[in-house]
Amino acid sequence: MLKIIKNRIEQGHKTTSYPKEPIELYKRYRGLPKINQDCDISVVNQCAAICPQDAIVASERKIDLGKCTFCGRCENVAGGAFVTFSQDFGMGTATREALLCDGSLPALADHAKDHFKKLFGRSLQLRQVSAGGCNSCEADTNVLNTPFFDLSRFGIDFVASPRHADGIHVTGPISKNMKSALISTYEAIPSPKVVIASGCCSISGGPFYGSSEIVGDLSAIVPVDLYIPGCPPHPLTTLHALLKFFK
Ligand code: SF4
Repeated sequence: MLKIIKNRIEQGHKTTSYPKEPIELYKRYRGLPKINQDCDISVVNQCAAICPQDAIVASERKIDLGKCTFCGRCENVAGGAFVTFSQDFGMGTATREALLCDGSLPALADHAKDHFKKLFGRSLQLRQVSAGGCNSCEADTNVLNTPFFDLSRFGIDFVASPRHADGIHVTGPISKNMKSALISTYEAIPSPKVVIASGCCSISGGPFYGSSEIVGDLSAIVPVDLYIPGCPPHPLTTLHALLKFFK
């Protein structure tokens, strides 16, 4: 016991002071894209052609963050003349349309549903559903439970039973095999309930889009309240979205 106490004293307090204080991310992190609206259309077309996700809408000079995997290929075209990626990890949106991004996103707090804030602002229990995910979204969500992020200090927890949950946090492209399990989990949660689509797979199918083995769009089977883009979403993107939407 004395060893444990000594160890705790030596280690000190590990939890991040975010959101009270800003947090700096590793410089290679790719967050909200900065899009040059004055870029030559030929460069925009090159970026669209090289994008493995068909995420660039060249005619509108926008990037669909619901499809983008943040691979960075477009950033390497013409020295980033059309797009470069910022360190801004706040990319959650309340609507699918808002993810079609011209370099900015609507303030999430303005679009958050007031009744959700009233109901779940103090306590939010989520059931995680991995609907055919590769486990990276799941792993980076799990990181929020470590002492560094300490998600439960915000009154947000992941629970085992949907009967004890206020909503579902869905990852993965929703393989056909998981579709009925996902719907059963959704139906087992008492109303009112929230649905969170996390990662480009659950938003659009991600790298699996077009496959006949997936649903690929969570909103096609249940109503989605919060979209968190990324491949996978950085833990801070998820934390930022949860706090802005519910707090
Ligand atoms: S970073 Fe996104 S938009 Fe750019 S090439 Fe990769 S998937 Fe496409």
